[in-house]
Amino acid sequence: MGSLARRLMKTIFLDRDGVINENHHNSGYVCNWSDLVFINNSLEAISILSQNGFRIYIVTNQSGIGRGFFTEEQLSATHARMIEAIQGADGHIERIYYCPHHPDDGCECRKPKPGMLHQAAKDNNVDLSESHFIGDSSSDIKAAAAAGAIPILVLTGHGQKTYKTYTKGDNTHASIRPLKVFTNLYTASQWLVNRPIC
Ligand SMILES: [Mg+2]
Ligand SMILES: [Zn+2]
Repeated sequence: MGSLARRLMKTIFLDRDGVINENHHNSGYVCNWSDLVFINNSLEAISILSQNGFRIYIVTNQSGIGRGFFTEEQLSATHARMIEAIQGADGHIERIYYCPHHPDDGCECRKPKPGMLHQAAKDNNVDLSESHFIGDSSSDIKAAAAAGAIPILVLTGHGQKTYKTYTKGDNTHASIRPLKVFTNLYTASQWLVNRPIC
């Protein structure tokens, strides 16, 4: 497949918490559907991407499972309702990849490790170098960079705090290619669908 054809199969990876939905105001963990609050215009953003031919994958750390805050069944139920809401707004998610592990488990999937991105690329024949990964945390940006995907930071969720670590001259991210920053998923999506292809 030529590079143009690959680029036309545009793929977007989305972090979930802080990008699509708010981090829980209290615990930080969305344990159930009733805890999930969509960020303003995030459903519209997903719809815009879907209608413009982007394949969308969600890549999310859900250590609340490993920590015993909720079960995989609860997460599945939450995701089923979330997908329903996204479809109701004419959006489409190809698949949700999640890491259920505790940070101390030393797994290969928990971001900032790129395991979930590599898995998604393998499962779906995705060229990571042509893919954007939209997140609100350093772990998203690091995972994107480690996988060779293009990181985008949004200022929702932990985004403001993450952005400060870049502007403070903190060298932690020095090796990461210049970062695109948008106020939220909606403005990021508008840029993605309007940018020139070549
Ligand atoms: Mg997040
Ligand atoms: Zn994991």
